[in-house]
Amino acid sequence: MSLFSGVEQAPPDAILGLTEQFKADTNPRKVNLGVGVYQDANGKLPLLRCVEAAEQRMVATPTAKGYQAIDGLPTYDTEVKELVFGAGSPLLAAGRVITAQALGGTGALKLGADLLRQVSPEAKVLISNPSWENHQALFTRAGFTVEKYRYYDAQTKGVDVDGMIADLRAAAPGTIVVLHACCHNPTGYDLAPADWQRVIDAVVDGHLTAFLDMAYQGFAQGIEEDGAVVRAFAERVGSFLVSTSFSKSFSLYGERVGALSVVCADAAEAARVLSQLKIVIRTNYSNPPTHGAAIVETVLGDPELRAQWVEELGQMRDRIKQMRTALVEGLVAAGVQGREYITDQVGMFSFSGLTKEQMQRLRSEYAVYGTDTGRICVAALNEGNIAYVSESIAAVLK
Ligand code: PLP
Repeated sequence: MSLFSGVEQAPPDAILGLTEQFKADTNPRKVNLGVGVYQDANGKLPLLRCVEAAEQRMVATPTAKGYQAIDGLPTYDTEVKELVFGAGSPLLAAGRVITAQALGGTGALKLGADLLRQVSPEAKVLISNPSWENHQALFTRAGFTVEKYRYYDAQTKGVDVDGMIADLRAAAPGTIVVLHACCHNPTGYDLAPADWQRVIDAVVDGHLTAFLDMAYQGFAQGIEEDGAVVRAFAERVGSFLVSTSFSKSFSLYGERVGALSVVCADAAEAARVLSQLKIVIRTNYSNPPTHGAAIVETVLGDPELRAQWVEELGQMRDRIKQMRTALVEGLVAAGVQGREYITDQVGMFSFSGLTKEQMQRLRSEYAVYGTDTGRICVAALNEGNIAYVSESIAAVLK
């Protein structure tokens, strides 16, 4: 008998499994709207010009490949902190925020989960219903019991704000609440500023621990505008966590660039928390890789490259918005009315409102791939596939 003979086959990852199925599909019209990756007007994963320029500079001044500090590149950490909290943030001036480089947004969430498990081992975790699939798995794996707060309202096609607030208010003190800072995945529906204040009231009154997941800063309204949520928390909440991902905003998916920021009561507490966070990192992967963070650090630290990034991110955001409008128009042209809500949503995804059966038919009969929940990636639509996708959706709705 082998050591692993009792190991069961795990189910394939829902989204990556879909990509495998897509690759094997021989239909020439196939479209992959499953995975959350931005594609340009030609259906290509973009290499941002600011990223290319930063890499060229790095190649022009080759450096030896030493280990990094446990918490990553110091200048990168400072740049991220200023991007997330605002350069003039009083929290930064008071030394209350620690930021550690992480392996993408997922890595940042896991660092935060492991740190919180040490600090509040009895706490439960609440995630939105529905949420990014990995939230449930990641916090469960970190040892937490994970439950859900109400979020999506299928009737009104929006957020069930009252239900969400009621669930947060019913949570025990210390409960960890994972919140999508912007571009809610998978629904595309965000909270309005006044709703965020109600969430903050519930967090403050109920002594909850907020963990803001910021995987799409700049994809909803703009970099500053999307960061307003973090600043609203900074004004009123004593301690909370923020995970940052640059996978989408810099199109650096495979470089695994992200960061975890933790807001503490004062500088002395921040130093102690950082010392513990470093142990979490050290015992997992010792220290993070250099290349991706060096790109982001170079771009954010150079006024010209930064301006280029702001422009390129704006172009991605605008193209997604155009595709939302084009999808609604394409559906109308194909005979499907009443889908204007698609343009109310923000970010890469749209909860199309299609059922599991309809999504499966979309795949098997038309080779249009989205998740069974009805989520489609609007950022993968373009002039070349939008008519076909609209007609296919119309066909499965009949
Ligand atoms: N959080 C949310 C809500 C996401 O949608 C994603 C990516 O899809 C992540 C975190 C993870 O980001 P990364 O790919 O940088 O690990």
